[in-house]
Amino acid sequence: MSDHPAWQIEGYDHLWMPYCQMKTAPLPLAVRSTSGVRLHLADGRTVIDSLASWWSACHGYNHPAVVDAIEQQLSLMPHVMFGGINHEPALRLARRLAAILPGDLNRVFFADSGSVALEVAMKMAIGFWRNHGQPGRTRFLAFHHAYHGDTTGAMSLCDPNRSMHASFGDGLLKQLHLDLPRDDVALAQLDQTLGHHRDELAAVVIEPLVQGAGGMRFHSPKVLRAIAETCRRNDVLLIADELATGFCRTGTMFAVQGTENQNLDKNNPATSGSAVIPDIICVGKALTAGMLPMAATIASDRVFDAFFSDDPSDALMHGPTFMANPLACAAANASLDLFENEPRLVQVREIERQLSDQLSVCRQIDRVVDVRVKGAIGVLQVDRLDHVDRLRQAFLDRGIWLRPFGDCIYTTPSLVISPDDLSQITTAMVEVTRQWASWN
Ligand SMILES: *Cc1c(COP(=O)(O)O)cnc(C)c1O
Repeated sequence: MSDHPAWQIEGYDHLWMPYCQMKTAPLPLAVRSTSGVRLHLADGRTVIDSLASWWSACHGYNHPAVVDAIEQQLSLMPHVMFGGINHEPALRLARRLAAILPGDLNRVFFADSGSVALEVAMKMAIGFWRNHGQPGRTRFLAFHHAYHGDTTGAMSLCDPNRSMHASFGDGLLKQLHLDLPRDDVALAQLDQTLGHHRDELAAVVIEPLVQGAGGMRFHSPKVLRAIAETCRRNDVLLIADELATGFCRTGTMFAVQGTENQNLDKNNPATSGSAVIPDIICVGKALTAGMLPMAATIASDRVFDAFFSDDPSDALMHGPTFMANPLACAAANASLDLFENEPRLVQVREIERQLSDQLSVCRQIDRVVDVRVKGAIGVLQVDRLDHVDRLRQAFLDRGIWLRPFGDCIYTTPSLVISPDDLSQITTAMVEVTRQWASWN
């Protein structure tokens, strides 16, 4: 172990890295500072971050407006417990989230990570049915290729076979898992499954429009709408996990709004017009512009009302230590100001067009099985991802930080990336993937 270069970095022998076989993993990238879309490395090099730190640095790194807001809050009150106390940054953020979310998603519960936001959503759904006299409704239906987080409840929602959590097996809650329906036959099967298991099902959980870490797979607004209708028909709650898709990533503020004005069928009110309105929605990642750890679970009035009674035992029993951290709230409020005042949706549309134009040649590369683009997400799906470390190094040699994953070589850049910087990413994706296809 001691001859591995990583172990010669002082302190590394005390770190346990994420998603990582510590024995064989390559040297991690030593980053000293960040700015705009760039990482400045300890060895003096600068690289473009094609991932915006796992989808989160939506306005680029160190955005001065967000930094200022955090600094101002820092001098007033970095943190205070949220039990029995509240503060203006949280009140303001809750008001604003309720205002920009569709429908009656009005009740904001702050969490400290996306996984915890999913746990809270699950507890809300189970409590909803318990408080309606149906305590047996404690299971969830999720989809193959889903990724909903790393805590044990959230893990049980992930793809049971393909996900990195498969090895936990019997240690996880047993949920129902189906292929994400893409046609009427599959939708009818979902309908049947929901009907059959209604007495034990609390909710269906979905990443709307784009499944992220489970395979970067897309589905159409029409499919999303049909799934929502099927839940409503069967009186099963719908939880939308927008950890990755929220805040303009897919081309609308939230992906559930990507079903608006799609001209699906203008004559049919059930399939045209407005956003899909889930009963519970989870947001995070870009919520604080990627600067501080915070997520939120937002419930509809109907869900909240089930907990609102004179009986203490009807309450939602959850409360993270760092719930509604004022610094994170200040960052999120500053981030929402930027979404209001700067043309992020236009920028996403331009990124989408550029990714589509510049990645399409990859269809001709042997071993690339699909090229797909949605909003500020560009994906090359390959037959089988091998030589991962060498691949990552080849991107670094071209000045790009990119982390191939699953069967995908993908980019989720900052929404403020310039066309030139984005071209550097796409050029590297084309050239490196072409080379990679000839390795072996
Ligand atoms: C990242 C992510 C999570 C988990 O969020 P953490 O903050 O990492 O716990 C859950 N669901 C989706 C769709 C995500 O992309």
